[in-house]
Amino acid sequence: MFGLFGNKKKDYQANVNNGTADITVKAGDNLLKAGLEAGLGWPHDCRVGSCGTCKCVLKKGKIKALTDFTYVLDGDQLKAGTILACQSILRSDIEVEVELDESAAAEIVRLDGSIVKINDLTHDIKEVVVKCSGNFNRDMMAGQYAEISVEGISTPRSYSFAKAPKNESEGEFSFYIRHVPGGEFTDWLFAEDRSGTAVALSAPYGQFYHRPMNSQMVCIAGGSGMSAIRAILEECVLDQVERNCIYLFGARAQQDLYCADDMQRIKQQWHKDYTFDYVPVLSEEPEGSGWTGPTGFVTTHFQEKYVDTGALDLSNAQGYLCGPPPMIDAGVESLKSAGINEESIYFDKFLDASSIPGGR
Ligand SMILES: Cc1cc2nc3c(=O)[nH]c(=O)nc-3n(C[C@H](O)[C@H](O)[C@H](O)COP(=O)(O)OP(=O)(O)OC[C@H]3O[C@@H](n4cnc5c(N)ncnc54)[C@H](O)[C@@H]3O)c2cc1C
Repeated sequence: MFGLFGNKKKDYQANVNNGTADITVKAGDNLLKAGLEAGLGWPHDCRVGSCGTCKCVLKKGKIKALTDFTYVLDGDQLKAGTILACQSILRSDIEVEVELDESAAAEIVRLDGSIVKINDLTHDIKEVVVKCSGNFNRDMMAGQYAEISVEGISTPRSYSFAKAPKNESEGEFSFYIRHVPGGEFTDWLFAEDRSGTAVALSAPYGQFYHRPMNSQMVCIAGGSGMSAIRAILEECVLDQVERNCIYLFGARAQQDLYCADDMQRIKQQWHKDYTFDYVPVLSEEPEGSGWTGPTGFVTTHFQEKYVDTGALDLSNAQGYLCGPPPMIDAGVESLKSAGINEESIYFDKFLDASSIPGGR
């Protein structure tokens, strides 16, 4: 069923859910890209073959698999013809079945722009502001991400919007980008001042956004994962959500902390009848540094301080996690052990070539 070689590159048709949609998949494009560009609510998160969210069942036709599906799909799923849409290039017209989520349907728009501002947030995280000549879909939600393309960089990279859409100036978009040593894009970005460089943004991607409820909200982030959580918190302030929220931010040392003023502002503007608490937790702060806040791993601190003591009412709570994959994995386990339902835990893993199956 999976043709790996042969067949000249050309456009093919994908018939989705027995004729619900018939989309053209351009030569070289993957099935998910075509589905999203056609405005379908195709479930997706990482789009690099790691999370499995975009899975669908190939009923007829041939595809080329860009990565080995066995990293993500089990034997029964593979036997049933399950494929990952983000890792499938068509080799014939196909028929697929997928559980579409129309509430998440948003047309992906590509905008040309340039980098207009770069600020150092920490020793290894920069705020990068891109100005474009248009705007994205007005239904774009805080927590989603854009794909940034720069000439000379092999493939586009994904970055979460760092502000709620309503808090950005017209046509501007802010990102928090951490330097990954040896990484193609971030080595380039951190090598010299890249202000003025032309870039293209495609968005909105992802299903990480606030789901309104009245129960406790627990946010956990690390590193540049501050971006999407900050955007979500800003939207909660704009919407004056009626719920308590605790945000635990894990960092190594004080030099890795940033956005303290923004967290203070969010606290002041949170709905007056509810609480917002920001708790930075440091795992490698040197002794005697004067740090008086909590230390250790952020997820361990959450467990010991809030779960084990019963200090937080976590019934019907929701979890929002964003940042490096190991922190998310530990955080999800911690929230589950605290009794939070798996379906109420939302996360965005910042995967890079070292964590993508088969590299980039
Ligand atoms: C949904 C999503 C949202 C994201 N949002 C953000 C964000 O807001 N902020 C942020 O900072 N990051 C974010 N990321 C991560 C970001 O997209 C990039 O992956 C990251 O910035 C690294 O890009 P790079 O080109 O510098 O590194 P890459 O070129 O991807 O390399 C990363 C590391 O892997 C190594 N490497 C390269 N090739 C291989 C290989 N074949 N096998 C093993 N190792 C290899 C490199 O030496 C380097 O150390 C997000 C990722 C996803 C998926």
